[in-house]
Amino acid sequence: MNDADHEMLAERFAEVGFLPDCSLDDADIAVLITCAVRQNAEQKVFGKFRELTEWKRGRPGRAIAMTGCMAVEHGSSLLRKLPDLDYLFDVRDCDGFFARLQSIYASDLGGRLPMPASDRLLAFVSVMGGCNEMCTYCIVPFVRGRETSRPVTEIVDDVSRLVERGVREVTLLGQNVNSYCDPGTGAGLPELLAAVDSVPGLWRLRFLTSHPRNAVPALFEAMRDLPTVCEQLHLPVQAGDDGLLRRMRRLYTVDEYLAKIGAARATVPGLALTTDIIVGFCGESEAEFLGTERLLSDVRYDTVHLQAYSVRPGTAAARRPDDVPLEEKKRRLNHLLDLQRRIALERNQALVGRVAEVLIEGTTEDGRPFGRTRQGKIAILPAGSAVAGELRTGTVAGATAWQLDLRAVAPGAGQEGSGSARASRPEAA
Ligand code: SAM
Ligand code: SF4
Repeated sequence: MNDADHEMLAERFAEVGFLPDCSLDDADIAVLITCAVRQNAEQKVFGKFRELTEWKRGRPGRAIAMTGCMAVEHGSSLLRKLPDLDYLFDVRDCDGFFARLQSIYASDLGGRLPMPASDRLLAFVSVMGGCNEMCTYCIVPFVRGRETSRPVTEIVDDVSRLVERGVREVTLLGQNVNSYCDPGTGAGLPELLAAVDSVPGLWRLRFLTSHPRNAVPALFEAMRDLPTVCEQLHLPVQAGDDGLLRRMRRLYTVDEYLAKIGAARATVPGLALTTDIIVGFCGESEAEFLGTERLLSDVRYDTVHLQAYSVRPGTAAARRPDDVPLEEKKRRLNHLLDLQRRIALERNQALVGRVAEVLIEGTTEDGRPFGRTRQGKIAILPAGSAVAGELRTGTVAGATAWQLDLRAVAPGAGQEGSGSARASRPEAA
């Protein structure tokens, strides 16, 4: 979400005559786009702010701005706490910030600057803001507000513009993206995916983050049928015990979740599944934790994002005791990390000998092209076999828990003929 905010702000800066993303040494303004989802994310922001204070003092005329979730959570108290902070604004409503910049820097402005030539192949497009769920541990509904979806037509225009500038893979973003609903037509995420899939020149389409409650068969069918939509589903489960899920207010049971996973896997061949887990939530007993361990062993995800529970002031869970000691949270976290590392290794090794398609993003330090497969796995190719921006297919020759090594590389389906990904899909690896 912060990347999507960054892209939107870069466009707005260019509109008012600023050069976005220049080096910090040359910059007049630094904008901190913040996250408040866990306490350590906030601590990082304060650390970065201290570095920027030094930068600001290095030359007169430099300024620091802050936006994102922390700006909403803490509001103007930040201006009192951080005397070097010059601007604080809500990223959902940044007209006032840019109007102020225009009034201050007016004499320097020569109108809209062209965006620097994009070397980006991948872009995030925010399709909705906010979240209507009220998971008891989560601060997002307080800082991002209620769900508001953008019209399909506007999103398709955004994607078309990005593709014209060289972007080949787009990830549609929402905190709860599968409850997307076009404000005019009522179209849902499957219809949005179909509309974006038809943008000429787009090779790959992904979406994040889905709440299990809204993961419906029509979504899985769209993933199966639309050529650009990649075989990757991020479906955060958070915990593998019904009591824990109730206390988190996730509004599904483990069995209901497993039924969704079963339907998704049965519908979309070669589907990669990823999830989010919180360990050490209020009152998490050993038995409840073992339920989460069992879920990981049973589902065998491709990737799991594991976090220790962090109290977020103002949330419902903040009123309960944070009673799993830090040491125990760390033990549970490390235990699940070890388990998942073994599972990821086995899943990746099972792909050896299969064919995978990779969108090349760059080159490793030792000169080998790398990118991601349609399933979102990092893949490394032989040196000299491809350059950034190309689609390549190859045979998986080796695997670790984190990456695949490909051999015998050929042009990918998406680059043959029409230059779109409408050719046949490679065998799912
Ligand atoms: N909307 C998604 C969902 O329904 O699961 C998740 C979006 S949330 C911003 C991203 C992830 O941060 C969550 O899946 C959760 O695992 C983690 N998270 C949120 N609040 C947290 C907290 N208080 N402590 C630890 N992790 C947290
Ligand atoms: Fe937070 Fe996701 Fe729950 Fe919304 S659905 S409250 S973003 S964890």
